[in-house]
Amino acid sequence: MQKGKINVTGEDIFPIIKKFLYSDHEIFLRELISNAVDATQKLKILSSKGDYKEELGDLTIRINADKDAGTLTISDAGIGMSADEVKKYINQIAFSGAEDFLEKYKDDANAIIGHFGLGFYSSFMVSDKVEIITKSYKDKPAVKWECDGSPDFTLEETDKPIRGTDVILHLDEDSKEFLEDNKINELLNKYCKFLPVEIAFGKEQEWKEDKYIDTDKDKIINNTTPAWTKKPSDLKDEDYNNFYKELYPATYDDPLFNIHLNVDYPFNLTGILYFPKFTNNIEVQKNKIQLYQRQVFVTDSVEGIVPEFLTLLHGVLDSPDIPLNVSRSFLQSDRNVKKIASHITKKVADRLKDIFTKEREEFEKKWNDLKVFIEYGMLSDEKFHEKAMNFFLLKNTENKFFTFEEYEKLVKANQTDKDNNTVYLYTTDPEGQYSFIEEAKQKGYDVIVMDGQLDAHFINNIETKLQGKKFLRVDADIIDKLIAKEDGFESKLSSDDESNLTSVFQSQLPKNSTFFVSFEAMDENTNPTVITQNEFMRRMKDMSKLGGEAGYYGNLPDSYNLVINSNHKLITDLKDKMYKAVGSKIEKIQKETDKTESDINALKKLQEGKKEEEIPQEEKDKKEELDKQSKELNDKKREILSGFSEKNKLVKQLIDLGLLANNMLKGESLSKFVKRSIELIED
Ligand code: ADP
Repeated sequence: MQKGKINVTGEDIFPIIKKFLYSDHEIFLRELISNAVDATQKLKILSSKGDYKEELGDLTIRINADKDAGTLTISDAGIGMSADEVKKYINQIAFSGAEDFLEKYKDDANAIIGHFGLGFYSSFMVSDKVEIITKSYKDKPAVKWECDGSPDFTLEETDKPIRGTDVILHLDEDSKEFLEDNKINELLNKYCKFLPVEIAFGKEQEWKEDKYIDTDKDKIINNTTPAWTKKPSDLKDEDYNNFYKELYPATYDDPLFNIHLNVDYPFNLTGILYFPKFTNNIEVQKNKIQLYQRQVFVTDSVEGIVPEFLTLLHGVLDSPDIPLNVSRSFLQSDRNVKKIASHITKKVADRLKDIFTKEREEFEKKWNDLKVFIEYGMLSDEKFHEKAMNFFLLKNTENKFFTFEEYEKLVKANQTDKDNNTVYLYTTDPEGQYSFIEEAKQKGYDVIVMDGQLDAHFINNIETKLQGKKFLRVDADIIDKLIAKEDGFESKLSSDDESNLTSVFQSQLPKNSTFFVSFEAMDENTNPTVITQNEFMRRMKDMSKLGGEAGYYGNLPDSYNLVINSNHKLITDLKDKMYKAVGSKIEKIQKETDKTESDINALKKLQEGKKEEEIPQEEKDKKEELDKQSKELNDKKREILSGFSEKNKLVKQLIDLGLLANNMLKGESLSKFVKRSIELIED
């Protein structure tokens, strides 16, 4: 027997392995199985080149847990090692000046193992003692290497009938969980599911006399030829969908589309990306892409590796150029990884364009499930934005789809306002904004539906990009002003009438939101009252709800405009009734007001150009007195007018009609409205 010290340049590695690597202990299994796979693949290559002439035999890699002995064994029938090779490959570890690195990455076993090429030594994270029993394919004597986690090892000849390597781990007290079937299955499923060499753990079971019993058939835990390693021409839609199920057994929905990646220049990359059905809750769909290196699982968190919006896609990426054992921050700055990311962005856009061009009907059918992803991409990635402008679809209230280009053609003639902006009318709620949509349709306008999670952001973004286009929600203004064309109708109300009627309406408006009353001279046949919501304010509020910057606006109460059609007969009739009821009182007050106003104006004139200190106190007092008077008169007038509207059911009714059309009449107000309607019919 030969004894010796593991040749570590620098310091003793074992305490470091134990001390620094507190997390990720489980990756030892991936490392050992990867080594076994490599040894097997190498043998296959030697055999195919004729350098190895014996039978290959059964190449299955076997995992065995022996609870009594407390050992976990990984056995392969690969190339094995001679005594010299063990000395060369196992006993020499280049390891020096590592303190800084270790301090930085102490939570990241991947980084340390990768940095120092410690794959095999990760076994000491979980073991008190490790044995290697190996026999080279070159038919040298088998050897047994043993090490107890100190730098001392022993190496001796031993008996081993067949070629290959057994790595026997004597698990330490804290790592006994790795003897449990469940735990081992979990790890194999995570790291080894698609390794290219068959891996056996346990036996297939069968149902016999009320229970499952082991058969003598090995249970193979991996699929050695996952779909992404095959040629696209050999795969049908069904195969892609089945593979999706294999990747995400818990997912119920089929994916919408897939992209089979197969790049060999300027880097190697294979993989299949799936577009899942994107729900409005995009957070839960993030980060499901699995990253592999030659079929060895690396990570399922590609955040920072692919562009943010692509983390919504599902599937696998496999590249030998992706370093297996590195820290996340290293992966993110790796040049190959960056190239891969931008390549994928391009592929995704190309694929969508392709489906759009070749299978437009299919694309439209799936648009609702796809839109949020495409918007996310357009909002976060300029390049993608550019490409997606060709296939982004606008859906109108009739469920027809248009590209931006097509839509422009559709609406340009009829929906261009007098300032030469094409106005895109949209609704965020086709039910709730029904009456506005109808008004627009009567004008021959088209209305698009924008009710998705990212639509508010998207509209803002697209407006800044498209010159001469304006997005307005159908209820942002009265129809004639939404797309203002020529100057409107002559008004049947004077400005005094409007001012008096403003008080009449103002006093009856709901108190829970802010309302502004305004008058518009519209067609006589247009509704007498409309409630609109300023586009800018509403957008700001919508966006602050989504957690944007516009936080300030989020705290403001909702504000609306009550727009009154000054040419509607009900309004002009109301005006007549108002004057009939309170006209003489108002006139009297008005006279006094006029007098006060003219006194105020006279005073103002007198003071024109004078500095504050040059004005005599007497005049100042007089002015104050007059202002007070004016205010009192105004209050009095308002009181009289609201006294009138209090008794006039029509005022409330007209306001409620406006609210009703906006879906804003609820609860008690709604039932009062119904009651009042009946009374009005009976009157
Ligand atoms: P790496 O795999 O990154 O080279 P390891 O420490 O895991 O580093 O392994 C060192 C070397 O030991 C391998 O390169 C290989 O030559 C040899 N080796 C490890 N495991 C086996 C095995 N199961 N069969 C044959 N050779 C092996």
